[in-house]
Amino acid sequence: MSTIKTGIKVVVVGAGFGGLTAAIECHRQGHDVEIYENFPELKTLGDIISFGANAGRIYHRWDNGKVVRRLKELCIDLSSYGFRIHKWDTGEVVYHQPSPAQDPEAPVLNGHRGELHEVVFNYARDELKIPIHLGQHVDQYFEDEEKAGIILKNGERVVADVVIGADGVRSKARELVLGYVDKPKSSGYAVWRAWFSNKDMIEDPRTREFCINGDTFNGWIGPDVHFLFSTIKGGKDCCWVLTHRDEHDIDESWSFPGKLEDVYKVLEGWDPTCRAIVEKTPHLVDWKLVYRDPLPTWVSKHARILLLGDAAHPFLPTSAQGATQAMEDGVTIAVCLKRAGKDNVPAAVRVHQELRYERVKAVQKTGESTRDRWHKTDWEKVAKDPKSIEFPREDWIHRFDAEKYAEEMFDETFQKVKHPEKFKDDTLVPVGPIPIAA
Ligand SMILES: Cc1cc2nc3c(=O)[nH]c(=O)nc-3n(C[C@H](O)[C@H](O)[C@H](O)COP(=O)(O)OP(=O)(O)OC[C@H]3O[C@@H](n4cnc5c(N)ncnc54)[C@H](O)[C@@H]3O)c2cc1C
Repeated sequence: MSTIKTGIKVVVVGAGFGGLTAAIECHRQGHDVEIYENFPELKTLGDIISFGANAGRIYHRWDNGKVVRRLKELCIDLSSYGFRIHKWDTGEVVYHQPSPAQDPEAPVLNGHRGELHEVVFNYARDELKIPIHLGQHVDQYFEDEEKAGIILKNGERVVADVVIGADGVRSKARELVLGYVDKPKSSGYAVWRAWFSNKDMIEDPRTREFCINGDTFNGWIGPDVHFLFSTIKGGKDCCWVLTHRDEHDIDESWSFPGKLEDVYKVLEGWDPTCRAIVEKTPHLVDWKLVYRDPLPTWVSKHARILLLGDAAHPFLPTSAQGATQAMEDGVTIAVCLKRAGKDNVPAAVRVHQELRYERVKAVQKTGESTRDRWHKTDWEKVAKDPKSIEFPREDWIHRFDAEKYAEEMFDETFQKVKHPEKFKDDTLVPVGPIPIAA
């Protein structure tokens, strides 16, 4: 792994998984990077989050697998249990989906968002010594042909060769890149989510089985609703998410409280096991799922500011790829900057967009197709072909190697970005599922 210094100064805004990965990968590729983050201190916020094998491959390269080993201790292990898919009313298991064989160099990692975030954050700050400035709200972004920068709430200006706006769904950087405020729309769905200890679950004979035999993962699929329940850390922690129709006003906050009575209403007529699980919930979050039409661009006018992760492309949870795609973004921009060099930063940013845009759009669509597969289930078809209800795990998503792909595609795409006139009749980016770079 090359650690030759490139002299490129990168400012990353946001220390979520997208921003942290961008910073770690920029550090790996020899750039000089620092992070500015709004939250004043690290808190273990959130609940279940999924990282596909395409993220596991990225984590695996950090400190020769040391970071993956730490994450794995906190993650669900479904190697023997698999995923059991139930019909919503009868509760019968209509399909038992086995877990895919784990690739040690590209493990699937699902666990508590806050706990996994802490591992990645500490690795970046304490081991790589990446400066992470907490409690720093970025108020403004600016750029010209030579540089880009941010202005903090306290008035301080920070200048860099490139600024990465990894500032989440309510991104401020997006305003500068687009030149207007892009309001999210309701997707027509919301998710109730909860995470709690197994204490009450073990005491109830109806729910005990989920907590005494190691980790479990069950899903109940019903009309326009699905309910997913898992137990983690050997059955010690419990977590459920229930996706349902919701036309209310949009709120992108994670801490919006939900009401159990509303959940019970949706679960009327359902397998009573679902209610027995939900009854044990001490606290739940009501998260409205927002939708955005794909942004026309993630790159600012002078190509010195780049939107990354949720700031550029929010995902529906049914894709299970939101955080993973944010990580792939971070890997790609770091490679592009290294390959282009300090004198070609804007071209690097444009190449990044060419390499990422169509892939991200295609992966985003899987969130809708899986939701529709489950919410509009044809039960007769499932009876004939139970596998048709499985959670899709497609190779073109999961076996993808973002770093290898960026390295392989860089030269050709760089030429197209620098000399678009020579490629008039050619598309800049591959269309449709991206070939696997494995
Ligand atoms: C508190 C929280 C809890 C979450 N919980 C879950 C969960 O349980 N399950 C799940 O699937 N996904 C969860 N997510 C979302 C998930 O982490 C992201 O969808 C995914 O990881 C992509 O990450 P990102 O880095 O692009 O964006 P985010 O993870 O949203 O990170 C954006 C970061 O930018 C910071 N920021 C925003 N504006 C500014 C500003 N003006 N100045 C400085 N910093 C700024 C934010 O504080 C935040 O830390 C959560 C996100 C957050 C912020």
